[in-house]
Amino acid sequence: MCKMEDVVDNLVKEKMPPPAPPLPSYSPIAANPKKFLTKSKPKDVSSTKDQCSVNIATRDMYDRLFDGAFRADVVIHTDDGGQILAHANILGMASPVIRNLIKKSKGKDRRRSFSICGVPHDAVRVFIRFLYSSCYNPEEMKEYALHLLLLSHVYVVPHLKKECEVQLENGLLNIENIVDVFQLALLCNAPRLGLICHRVILDNFKAVSATDGWNVMKEAHPILEREILATVAEADARQKRLVRKREERKMHVQLYDAMEALVHIYRDGCKTIGPHDKAPKKDKQPCGYTACKGMELLVRHYASCKLRVPGGCAHCKRIWQLLELHSRLCIDSDACRVPLCRNFKDRTMKQNKKEEMRWKILARKIVRSKSISGAPFFSLANST
Ligand SMILES: [Zn+2]
Ligand SMILES: [Zn+2]
Ligand SMILES: [Zn+2]
Repeated sequence: MCKMEDVVDNLVKEKMPPPAPPLPSYSPIAANPKKFLTKSKPKDVSSTKDQCSVNIATRDMYDRLFDGAFRADVVIHTDDGGQILAHANILGMASPVIRNLIKKSKGKDRRRSFSICGVPHDAVRVFIRFLYSSCYNPEEMKEYALHLLLLSHVYVVPHLKKECEVQLENGLLNIENIVDVFQLALLCNAPRLGLICHRVILDNFKAVSATDGWNVMKEAHPILEREILATVAEADARQKRLVRKREERKMHVQLYDAMEALVHIYRDGCKTIGPHDKAPKKDKQPCGYTACKGMELLVRHYASCKLRVPGGCAHCKRIWQLLELHSRLCIDSDACRVPLCRNFKDRTMKQNKKEEMRWKILARKIVRSKSISGAPFFSLANST
């Protein structure tokens, strides 16, 4: 026999790469992902092999055992007089609740029996098949996901419950069934699914509240309806607050840009536009300060306007406000070339406290809207 050391030695000598790991075991889903989506008839034994993680031979054997009911010793009664034959050992191992039911049940000729009512016969059949081979047909899952979630919760089959939740989360939820799934998630203690449903309801409330499911829930559980309506109102208010904050921040950023442009125009003289007392050059590209052009128009107006007082025309009123704001943010009013910077600083001393506070808050918000430190032109020192 070839020793492991010899193999390694040979590989080293020949500088061969190590052998590749074996291919992954056969997976019907990986081998044919499209089959996952193709329609198949319910109760077709061969088509139930789509969704399965157990060995194929094992799964086939358990499917044959279920379908053939070889030495079945349990009868499950379903709605409309339906019956499903099964094996006590398998059911008992798969579900502790069914184990107890079988223990307590009485039956003729050694056959025990119990009932699973309130869900369609076919849903019970899909459920019992899953207890045998841990397999289901995607089409059947689509049809009976809600029933399977309920059954897996009631009969304590956690891996089926998890699978139902995953399938519902990943494509089986829709506007029509969302209210039913939400109620079921609450009933079956599936918090993640419940949260997802709640979010979908909030995001699509108008459409959801027009569904039959909503109307049925309204009649059957008025308290739940009231709770959902309260959260919808809360979400609306939160959304409005968010929009208002966003708008406010946008305004503060615009003011910050205007402040930067103001300093730039009076300090540097905008190279694109040229000195504020001369006509702008048409062939130049706009300068880096986004608010420069708008600011420049205001500055030009201010320079030429006859009124030029705070209560004068709307443009002048605007620039007076901007000049006052600048003064609040300006680090060094003595060296500053923006008009009235010093005057506004001096006037600040005489302002009442309420107005002072209003300006301080605005200044702080503007500086923080774009920059933590306020550099390069502004400082929070004057606004705190
Ligand atoms: Zn400029
Ligand atoms: Zn004016
Ligand atoms: Zn200044």
